[in-house]
Amino acid sequence: MKYIFVVGGVMSGVGKGVASASIGAILQSRGFKVTAIKVDPYVNVDAGTMNPVEHGEVFVLNDGTECDQDLGNYERFLGRDLTGANYMTTGSVYLSVINKERQLYYGGKCVEVVPHIPLEVIDRINRAAKLAGAEIVIVEIGGTVGEYQNILFLEAVRMLKLKDPKSVVLALISYLPFLSKDSELKTKPTQYAVRTLNSAGLQPDIIIARASVPIDQKRREKISFNCNIQTEDVISAPDAESIYDIPINFENNNISGRLLKKLNLRPRQKDLKEFRRLSREIHSSTKAVRIGVVGKYFGSGDFVLADSYISVIEAVKHAAYALKAKPLIEWVDAENPGDLNRYDGIIVPGGFGARGVEGKIKTIKYCRERKIPFFGLCYGMQLAIVELSRSRLGWKAANTVEVDPKTKYPVIDVMPEQKQKIAAKEMGGSMRLGAYPAKLHPGTIAYKAYGKKEISERHRHRYEVNPEYIADLQKAGAVFSGTSPDGRLMEIMELPKKVHPFFLGTQFHPEFTSNPMRPHPLFLEFVKALLNKRR
Ligand code: GLN
Repeated sequence: MKYIFVVGGVMSGVGKGVASASIGAILQSRGFKVTAIKVDPYVNVDAGTMNPVEHGEVFVLNDGTECDQDLGNYERFLGRDLTGANYMTTGSVYLSVINKERQLYYGGKCVEVVPHIPLEVIDRINRAAKLAGAEIVIVEIGGTVGEYQNILFLEAVRMLKLKDPKSVVLALISYLPFLSKDSELKTKPTQYAVRTLNSAGLQPDIIIARASVPIDQKRREKISFNCNIQTEDVISAPDAESIYDIPINFENNNISGRLLKKLNLRPRQKDLKEFRRLSREIHSSTKAVRIGVVGKYFGSGDFVLADSYISVIEAVKHAAYALKAKPLIEWVDAENPGDLNRYDGIIVPGGFGARGVEGKIKTIKYCRERKIPFFGLCYGMQLAIVELSRSRLGWKAANTVEVDPKTKYPVIDVMPEQKQKIAAKEMGGSMRLGAYPAKLHPGTIAYKAYGKKEISERHRHRYEVNPEYIADLQKAGAVFSGTSPDGRLMEIMELPKKVHPFFLGTQFHPEFTSNPMRPHPLFLEFVKALLNKRR
């Protein structure tokens, strides 16, 4: 087994996830079986209990694991489904060590933070790699070097490297600030990051130098000299117009050649064909489409963050590029939607709780009445049902029980199996999570888009369309084009094409399975509707 650890220096948000995913994609294209693991330093057992404003999107895998958004990057770049074995947090590692201790696994030994926690980390990495049949495993360590939280993961790197230095590569993703036009890229923060790694007993083998512009030879030499690595091991990683250009940019610096040499591996082939084709497609996309995403997880102090909806954004892009469209995505504040006429289409993505709900419902109503393409994802679909009940059935008090537990018309109700869980405060990892099958009904938009009767999609919800109101909702015009195989659970709701150009909502999250090489059929249908509207 060969290991590539990716750690970040200087600051967070420099694209460690995309860099790790890109390295994976490159090595895969060179003929190796690769998998990628994310290590999250949080004490939370998984990402499911974290607010997106704090931690970004909660990504969901087929097996129902609620994890860091970087797993989404890995799946999109590797073109492969991952499992819960590809994700760990400090909390989950401690939890299993403590559980093992209770089962006398350690046979009377004192169980200590070092070595037992790093050993558990190593064990998990090996298990995940084996499960994926990988020859190379990429492990991204969350946080920034120098933080107290990730020190035990660095210790795991040290222990592995000590045992087999030829099988472990440590890549540092650093950032070079560029203060003004008359200045130069600054290497000092990178030097400090390397010192910090040194004090943890580690020396990076490769430095990926993120910056707004490419690094020049002088900076390369400076990093090489001060950080004790070869100039060829400094990879220039300037800001890219599209994240899907990054594997190509890295390869222009011969990153795979350097990595494979250090790991004592011989390259088998060279082929970034798919990424090169994608990159051409992206840069030749011209027909602009303006999409409003209505959400509430944007604000962080005075700043606006897009991280909470990253898979939605990527899924829109995948579909748009395939149709030669250039997506312009704008944030619509759910509490104050503003002028909606400027958009070619609106997405109401997943969400929780009461804040912003009335604004979302108002937005959905506007889209329905003005025939603006509307795509509702999970909460977006549930609120479309609420809107339809209020407007078309005249049930002004209709609501989801999540917002109004005493509503006279609970058109969206809590799923029966969720009731006990909520009562017992079992809130972690207890929603309806992960991939479930659904059947599609012929003659509908959904059926036509997928081109098949049976689908499987990823879920994350506690509430559902109340089965008692289905007949009424159908009278109000709703077509339930996708249901669970037993017909009980409504998975897709749409309005017929003759009534509305595109009005569709899904109980599941199609954004989690969209891939740049294989855009999701429903996102394709949505973007097609936007292009038709433009004409
Ligand atoms: N809050 C809703 C539910 O729990 C929708 C969840 C979501 O949008 N992911 O069912």
